[in-house]
Amino acid sequence: MSKVLVIGAGGVGSVAVHKMAMNPQIFSDVHLASRTKSKCDAIAESVKSRTGQTVSTYAIDAEDVPALTALIQEIGPKLVVNLALPYQDLTIMDACLAAGVHYMDTANYEPKDVAKFEYHWQWAYQDRFKQAGLMALLGSGFDPGVTSVFAMWLKKHKLKTIRTLDILDCNGGDHGQAFATNFNPEINIREVTAPARHWANGDWVETPAMTIRQNFDFEGVGPKNMYLMYHEELESLAKFVPELERARFWMTFGDAYIQHLTVLQNVGMTRIDPVLYNGQEIIPLQFLKAVLPEPASLGPTTQGKTNIGDIATGESLDGSGDKTFYIYNICDHEDAYHETGNQAVSYTTGVPAMIGAAMILTGAWSSEGVFNIEQFDPDPFMDMLNQHGLPWQVKELAGPLQF
Ligand code: NDP
Repeated sequence: MSKVLVIGAGGVGSVAVHKMAMNPQIFSDVHLASRTKSKCDAIAESVKSRTGQTVSTYAIDAEDVPALTALIQEIGPKLVVNLALPYQDLTIMDACLAAGVHYMDTANYEPKDVAKFEYHWQWAYQDRFKQAGLMALLGSGFDPGVTSVFAMWLKKHKLKTIRTLDILDCNGGDHGQAFATNFNPEINIREVTAPARHWANGDWVETPAMTIRQNFDFEGVGPKNMYLMYHEELESLAKFVPELERARFWMTFGDAYIQHLTVLQNVGMTRIDPVLYNGQEIIPLQFLKAVLPEPASLGPTTQGKTNIGDIATGESLDGSGDKTFYIYNICDHEDAYHETGNQAVSYTTGVPAMIGAAMILTGAWSSEGVFNIEQFDPDPFMDMLNQHGLPWQVKELAGPLQF
């Protein structure tokens, strides 16, 4: 029985709060705060009609540390779940320290003026959280999040070592729009247009964005083009799975998405430096976000499935030589919408956010300091994935990917 404060009323916040309300034995009292209170109220109304549970709502600017600290003190939660944007990670961590509560998020801190995906800003809080006797859990979404838990489950139950790891993120959903992103457009486009990086023999190998492409046949979706990208869990996996010789991240994109993005990039609309417009400074990417569809609005029209998982190769635990396993989840956009009013990209992030919060609140995962999800026992998290809408499967492959 615990009180929780969720910050952020987008698609991910909506799914997490719905799923928390469906599990009142763990989340006895759910509070939701965001910049725009009307968005919190709309989520609270949906939660009430679907589950009968009441969610209290608040307006907050999570970059205002004194105001946020005061709100946390007024509510008195055991845990703050940060589902706002990566820009707010550090200010929310500061407020959690000031108010003396645990912290959790789904995406690493990013400075607004440069697209950098690195954990060092948040890892630097290690001593402060430890000294305060508090826990901060970083990256409890799907990727990062479940993809790392999948790797650690394979390492616990199937493989003694993981030498090569490929993370494959496929969204086979069709939202019927010419161009839209499935989560926050600004964050999504910053990530996709950043140079690709993968881990090879103890170092990072950088290649230009969206230049390495492979075709893969995804169960439940079919063949799709996927592109090599950098993704933040590669950094924590390289740290916590030290024997990794190669780790890569792939994400699928349709041709229409690539064409639109290329034009937007060529005309300067994805820039994150300020430009002067009518005497006022604007950031082109933030303006672009304002004219693109809100990801949360795509729910009613999105059809198809996501398939996200890991292919890992290493020495088998049973001593029978090298083995390769593929572990993945398939999620249906329409089922996700039916259950929570949000499409599968928000669902596959919001459910693991609820589960990460449950790990902390039930004490299944407990420690003092700043932790990545790889550092805890994967089993209770994997059990909850099966019970709460993201069932996974594992199968043995003949060998690693041949590219
Ligand atoms: P949205 O843009 O839909 O929602 C973000 C919410 O945060 C909005 O309600 C927004 O308010 C609020 N917000 C923004 N700035 C502030 C602020 N200063 N103070 C308070 N609230 C603020 O994003 P999503 O729901 O799609 O994504 C949420 C998070 O989940 C992001 O950090 C994203 O990177 C992460 N994510 C992680 C994934 C994973 O697998 N690990 C996958 C997908 C997303 P307003 O409406 O007023 O703008």
